[in-house]
Amino acid sequence: MSHPTLNRRQWLMAAAAAGLLPLSYAQTGPLKANARVIIIGGGMAGTTLAKYLRLWGTNIDVTLIDRNAKYTSNIMSSLVLTGQRTITSLQYAYTTLKQKYGVKVLTDEVLAVDPAAKKVTLASGKVLVADRIVMAPGISFDPVPGLTDPLAMPHAWQAGVQTTTLRKQLLAMPANGTVVMSIPKVPYRCPPGPYERACLLADWLKKNKRQAKLLVLDANPDFVTEKDNFSNAFFNLHGSVIEYRTSTEVLSADAATMTLQTTTGAVAGHVINLIPRQRCGPIVAATGLANATEGRFAGVSVLNYESTVSPGVHIIGDSSATTQPKAGHIANQEAKVCADAIVRAFAGEQPDPAPVTNSACFSTITMTQASWLEAVFQYDPVTRLMTPVANATGASIGWSGDNFDQMNTWFKALMADSFA
Ligand SMILES: Cc1cc2nc3c(=O)[nH]c(=O)nc-3n(C[C@H](O)[C@H](O)[C@H](O)COP(=O)(O)OP(=O)(O)OC[C@H]3O[C@@H](n4cnc5c(N)ncnc54)[C@H](O)[C@@H]3O)c2cc1C
Repeated sequence: MSHPTLNRRQWLMAAAAAGLLPLSYAQTGPLKANARVIIIGGGMAGTTLAKYLRLWGTNIDVTLIDRNAKYTSNIMSSLVLTGQRTITSLQYAYTTLKQKYGVKVLTDEVLAVDPAAKKVTLASGKVLVADRIVMAPGISFDPVPGLTDPLAMPHAWQAGVQTTTLRKQLLAMPANGTVVMSIPKVPYRCPPGPYERACLLADWLKKNKRQAKLLVLDANPDFVTEKDNFSNAFFNLHGSVIEYRTSTEVLSADAATMTLQTTTGAVAGHVINLIPRQRCGPIVAATGLANATEGRFAGVSVLNYESTVSPGVHIIGDSSATTQPKAGHIANQEAKVCADAIVRAFAGEQPDPAPVTNSACFSTITMTQASWLEAVFQYDPVTRLMTPVANATGASIGWSGDNFDQMNTWFKALMADSFA
């Protein structure tokens, strides 16, 4: 018989102390040491994983490590450029994960991972060991030849000082100035993101810098997503402001003359929002796991997000190479599939053989109106890839103020699911 107010371990200890059990049984007994998981990166993927491992697992020790004490959301961060949001309104603390779910949170930089020994070395000098390691460090950017000060031509694709710097540059530019924005080759973080930012900036320029132009240089041959809405917005709604050049890749940058050399010639701007090509977080590459998509991202099994080269190490979120978009909503979904698979693995079980994920995305077409895009993916056992479910994938026809309001509701719900 156990005591209703004591947990199993406390009851065993009490029973041993009362002589009901030999002490050795209570100390070592049938209780196994807690399973330990270390999560690298407390962004959209890492926090969701930490929370759901604690919710779904039994006695799993979860340690979440992020270099920052607070997370700054990239989602909604283009609205900082137009002054509709502040960067602090996008910051999320780890307090609830610690206090409500019992996640151990460390503010530290992960310098090295030994994937075989499951050992993690931190900048503080600490060395941690676990049964499984999950990497969720987001993305990093390719260096741009000639660009020595990244803030001279900010990407604002990792929200923070990059974003606030770009905002200041936009405010300071002449009313008849030129803004240049570059879109990298796929795969990159948030496929609709650059197009929605271009639409938002075009609307802001119309209201605040009336003779200004926005030159969009796309390294891809066409809009990579939501083509109907974005082409309608680029060529009609914002046609007087936006000039769109496709298959135009940035080769080098010169901040002194505010000039870019591109595959279709030189361009100059008063403000240049240069979004470079992307790859996994450096810690993933340094661990030898960047083995997919031309060595840019980490190959994983989408049944459990375990590395295809290093068993017991999982990669979720933007650093992994999957057929799903690199998006915060998908990072949240991947984290849940991974949490479920890890809980099952600790119980000696196989992962769910048929995972399903979904993603919703709202795109700002003006400062008050948005379109939407949604997708459901399911596991295909033949290709072993997540494939879109045809009748559950699509986009809005046009845009509206109601969609803009729903975007705020969706954002609050997503962030609460990951951080609260
Ligand atoms: C402008 C913009 C708009 C977007 N809009 C949307 C949207 O509307 N919908 C949507 O679904 N997605 C959107 N996204 C994409 C979304 O932000 C990303 O897909 C998502 O953040 C990926 O989550 P992640 O956990 O992989 O990476 P992140 O959220 O970037 O988290 C990675 C974390 O790892 C930490 N880290 C990295 N390396 C280390 C290390 N070595 N040691 C310690 N900590 C480390 C970082 O500090 C960071 O906190 C947008 C992105 C941008 C840029």
